[in-house]
Amino acid sequence: MMQNLTVLGTGNLGSQIIFQSAYHGKNVTAYDISDEVLAKLPARWEQLKECYKRDVEGATDEKLDAAVAHIRPTADMKDALKDADIVIEAVPERLDIKQDTWKKVSENAPAKTIFCTNSSTLPPSKLVSFTDRPEKFLCLHFANEVWKYNIGEVMMQPKTDPAVFEQVAQFAEEIGMVPIRIYKEQPGYVVNSLSVPLLDAGGDLWVRGVASFEDIDKTWRIATGSPMGPFQLIDFVGMMTPYNLMKDSPNPVKKEFARRLKVDYIDKGRLGKINGHGFYDYE
Ligand code: NAD
Repeated sequence: MMQNLTVLGTGNLGSQIIFQSAYHGKNVTAYDISDEVLAKLPARWEQLKECYKRDVEGATDEKLDAAVAHIRPTADMKDALKDADIVIEAVPERLDIKQDTWKKVSENAPAKTIFCTNSSTLPPSKLVSFTDRPEKFLCLHFANEVWKYNIGEVMMQPKTDPAVFEQVAQFAEEIGMVPIRIYKEQPGYVVNSLSVPLLDAGGDLWVRGVASFEDIDKTWRIATGSPMGPFQLIDFVGMMTPYNLMKDSPNPVKKEFARRLKVDYIDKGRLGKINGHGFYDYE
């Protein structure tokens, strides 16, 4: 059983992975670039404790305090990696930062350490060349609000050892995730391979004036039993992500979708659930 986890990057996702793993009894080392960044963590744990109390059955103060006690922050890379069975990298989504990070991790990690990236868009076959151990490099991808939307997408790249892949799937389960095994490199993993076409199709119907966004959502909810239609999903993710993905699209419908998101919503301060207003208004 892999007991010692090191998480690189303590931002939005990194902090959630750290807390979730510590909550499930792992010894977690939290690495970030400076002590100033790490100093923000205690406030973050308080925030996450409230989320767990709200959303996770049986999350008592005692258990949540025990989780915090399992976390060791450090800004020293060598120290961060010294006992790591597994590393999960959650640094910013920039190739140069990922490259630099994996080079340094390779120089400092013990031979036993398995390397995982949480990157949403950078293909693992592109990152693997920055590491010294292709057979032990793969993706473990989390969804935002890991304690609630608890899938752990475990994705191989061509050189990943299948035994390592299985170990990581097992680890994902141990930290309360439902492992999704992905045997071939797939942009967007499973989750975005399914949700992006849905958002595109919803956008297409709306932009061409076929139906209102409310009715498109209603159709999807009633006909499939899904709790959210595509526009509710956009509110959930936040307007900026689909806007950035589509604004320079060569596809005129997608480009128009981006323009409508900007003019009708983003420019009016309606950014999605994050600030209470998107396609819909929230409490
Ligand atoms: P973020 O910007 O919130 O956090 C990034 C963290 O990395 C910050 O704490 C920053 O100080 C730190 N950092 C910067 N340079 C670093 C370095 N050289 N070494 C170590 N740490 C460094 O980003 P995020 O949203 O948490 O995303 C991180 C990764 O997780 C990305 O690869 C992203 O694709 C992936 N991801 C994000 C989401 C999401 O919903 N935000 C979901 C799934 C996966």
